[in-house]
Amino acid sequence: NASRQSADGAGADELFGGLLSPGSDRRACLSRYQSAHYYKHSPYAPSPHLLRKLRDYEARHSKCGPGTPAYAKSVGHLRSGSGSSTEDKECNYIVWIPYNGLGNRMLSLLSTFLYALLTDRVLLVHSTDDFTGLFCEPFPGANATWVLPPDFPVADMSRLGVGSNQSYGNLLDGKKIANDPAKATPQSVPPYVYLHLAHDLRRSDQLFYCNDDQLVLAKVNWLLVQNDFYFVPALYGMAEFQGELRRLFPAKESVAHLLGRYLFHPSNSVWGMITRYHHTYLAHAEERIGVQIRMFSWASVPVDDMYNQIMACSRQERILPDVVVDGDAAASSSASHGDGSSKPKAILIASLQADYYDRIRSTYYEHAANGGGMVGVFQPSHEERQITGQRSHNQKALAEIYLLSFSDVLLTTGASTFGYVSSSLAGLRPTMLMVPKDDDGKVPEPPCVRAVSMEPCFHMKPDVECHGKAVNKEELSRHVKECEDVGKGIKWI
Ligand code: GDP
Repeated sequence: NASRQSADGAGADELFGGLLSPGSDRRACLSRYQSAHYYKHSPYAPSPHLLRKLRDYEARHSKCGPGTPAYAKSVGHLRSGSGSSTEDKECNYIVWIPYNGLGNRMLSLLSTFLYALLTDRVLLVHSTDDFTGLFCEPFPGANATWVLPPDFPVADMSRLGVGSNQSYGNLLDGKKIANDPAKATPQSVPPYVYLHLAHDLRRSDQLFYCNDDQLVLAKVNWLLVQNDFYFVPALYGMAEFQGELRRLFPAKESVAHLLGRYLFHPSNSVWGMITRYHHTYLAHAEERIGVQIRMFSWASVPVDDMYNQIMACSRQERILPDVVVDGDAAASSSASHGDGSSKPKAILIASLQADYYDRIRSTYYEHAANGGGMVGVFQPSHEERQITGQRSHNQKALAEIYLLSFSDVLLTTGASTFGYVSSSLAGLRPTMLMVPKDDDGKVPEPPCVRAVSMEPCFHMKPDVECHGKAVNKEELSRHVKECEDVGKGIKWI
């Protein structure tokens, strides 16, 4: 595979084969230049077409971003309520509105960025209080901010929802917009459309995922979007985008991996947390095993059962080091002194709870690891519950996503976007703990599965009938599969 790169581990080039463009201020965003030295795997190099597309995007963002005359003109049209005429439309925009937990946010932002690449739009972020302080500005150039200025004329953006008048679904239902590409002109469509693509979306909102609707939306100067999903697999289902996606990502499973490394750079304060923790606890190990344990309120199992599930999975997939069984005193004694043949290992646990860490750490305290290697067990925080509105909480979550992504091996929890982001950034196909079905509180059998792709799962496959140019179905069925961990989901392989 021409796009496979063997740049594993140290020596990896800091700009990921041209994925990142040089020239940003190093001190303003240390992670941008340092993270390549921490990742263990970089399995895919960006395609030349993706590199061109990203450089074109960066030029567009510099030309159209906040502070430019083009931005002022487009905002002026929006303020006056007039649709911009075709000749004015040098710049089109998509504004992303944060919603839900950090993993969901990162995946929907990444998908929105890909959508902006495909539709020649400029991506701006409605940066709420709980979203600031997490990431560096991703686009190069002193003035190329992605933060939407506070005087943006659409008020109360965080309150947009399924009932909003300007939502695409409601505009369609109220016949205020026609999803007929032959009739749509920049004058016939409103100056902005809100795309409600969050989990409570309705059927008419889902028409966003249809080819003809995309041709209509292409005429709209401003799109605002609220979404908590990784919707990339659905973009592949539209004829308009299929060919371009194929050229951008010859290796299908590399989308979130490459775009995640392009777009997300932890801020200096989060990067400080990551690197301090890494060097203090993890760097000395020759093998790092990341374990992410997420207990969903809708599918919880007792702690003992979950611990047993982790151990059963670990035996099945050979993830955590085996321990010397009780009673084998001689083996235990020689193992505990170590014969030097086993590599020191670090197990990094990310979880809101401390229970699993306590148990796993005790296991390696009370028992020697087979082969006698040293096994350290670490957990940076246990926040007990999700507090998405709090900045320091989100910063810890982000730090842990990155610490996990530096692992050699990953065991994550199925259905968790937190786990998906870690795996994609890591460039690893994780083993995923299966989540109980139907809230029966029972540990599933088998306890876990090995993911077939490092791509995240799109949890809500669109369920609409589309009109317009048909997609290549054969190609679609080869590369879009049902997720291992979520029944209704699809993923790109
Ligand atoms: P998902 O719900 O598992 O798909 O992941 P999200 O990231 O969207 O939402 C879960 C949120 O709970 C995270 O963003 C964190 O705020 C918090 N959280 C869950 N697991 C952990 C963890 O292991 N460590 C930390 N620090 N926070 C976590």
